[in-house]
Amino acid sequence: AAGASVVARRQMKKSAKWSRAMGIVREFQDKCDSPIGKLRNLADAMTVEMHAGLASEGGSKLKMIISYVDNLPTGEEEGCFYALDLGGTNFRVLRVHLGGKDKDIIPTEFVEVPIPPCLMTRSSHELFDFIAEELAKFVATEDEKSHPFPGRQRELGFTFSFPVRQTSISSGTLIKWTKGFSIEDAVGEDVVGELNKAMERVGLDMRVAALVNDTIGTLAGGRYYNPNVVAAIILGTGTNAAYVERANAIPKWQGPLPRSGDMVINMEWGNFRSSHLPLTEYDDDLDVASLNPGEQIFEKMISGMYLGEILRRVMLKMAEEAEFFGDTVPEKLKNPFILRTPHMSTMHHDTSSDLKDVASKLRDILEINNTTLRMRKVIVELCDTIATRGARLSAAGIYGILKKLGREITREGEDQKSVIALDGGLFEHYKKFKQCMESTLKELIGEEASDTIDIIHSNDGSGIGAALLAASHSQYL
Ligand code: BGC
Ligand code: MG
Repeated sequence: AAGASVVARRQMKKSAKWSRAMGIVREFQDKCDSPIGKLRNLADAMTVEMHAGLASEGGSKLKMIISYVDNLPTGEEEGCFYALDLGGTNFRVLRVHLGGKDKDIIPTEFVEVPIPPCLMTRSSHELFDFIAEELAKFVATEDEKSHPFPGRQRELGFTFSFPVRQTSISSGTLIKWTKGFSIEDAVGEDVVGELNKAMERVGLDMRVAALVNDTIGTLAGGRYYNPNVVAAIILGTGTNAAYVERANAIPKWQGPLPRSGDMVINMEWGNFRSSHLPLTEYDDDLDVASLNPGEQIFEKMISGMYLGEILRRVMLKMAEEAEFFGDTVPEKLKNPFILRTPHMSTMHHDTSSDLKDVASKLRDILEINNTTLRMRKVIVELCDTIATRGARLSAAGIYGILKKLGREITREGEDQKSVIALDGGLFEHYKKFKQCMESTLKELIGEEASDTIDIIHSNDGSGIGAALLAASHSQYL
């Protein structure tokens, strides 16, 4: 009888721990909740901030950066141009052959190189030397065909996916770093100047014809194929949006009114913040521990760099306070950023009856071995909570842009389509995220208008877009 009661007591302790863990899960889920009414408030807050950011420099957390792109590609661009794409985990160099009016096929050659993590936090000099060297290596693979304008200087579109205060189409100073980058001596410097110096050091003769954010490149790349593209969104390592604004709706724009009447705006929406955001203690802790505390709060709830890290933090709390993984806290679980969003995505999409992909990720990444099916189901639920929140928030942001443009409703006698170009690894590879974002956007727009709004995947748009913008700002036009 005594033995039986020990077993019973142990059983009770176990179930008490389980309910403690479930308490942590439920509380987290409650705080992450984003009902449609809250999303509408967020979309409205986004449009308010858009107005404020356009009104004056520093008028809002949204920088609403003037890109100096007032003409988007027409499809008639011609020639061979280079592009650099820096800003995520990989860095790419491209050679793009623009066929001109009747030949819209673009044979593109490119190389993709992972950025050595140490270069993300060292010195401007070292980062730009690395870039210039890779660029020089790639240029050396040119043959006669791929350099169709002998005697001309090569021209480059530089996609630099960080907040930059543009001073012209081909120059701008870095406002701050985001994502995993933090190189103090580059802040406030002219990005193109830094690249030029590095190109000189490696003996490469090339002119930067356009400096663009990845959202701007994606917008340009999207427009090349589809004239109805009005906005571009990146859902990748980081997140951001750009859209076509009327120049006379930008009070802070002091320059001449462009002939097109348009100006493309880089919103830098990653830095959006609002009291309506469903923030949790895990988000606050993640922010405090980050390279850029207090900044990019919207981005930290949505983008690929952070989703897996949010999951790790919730799991760690369950381990520490409810012994969810047994009586010791798994050592690996204490490592920031060890659990990446692709791992989370794999677990989230596990359709096997025994959740074997979840088991193997926990084992391989975190060295957590003896999980039960019931535990693995809880992990999948957490993945769902985190991805759903991010996807719904990004849909609210897009809806906010459509409202600012007055395109969220169909007007009598108007059947103009609004197309939004999306790109980024999160959008491309995290299926449930993408589906949830799209269905939430539909829900926000409503039945009636949802036919007039399309989402397209602008694959590699930012690199090609940068080459297109280099072409339209060529010194040889
Ligand atoms: C940067 C943006 C960029 C976005 C997507 C953010 O962290 O601030 O400039 O467009 O990431 O790459
Ligand atoms: Mg990219």
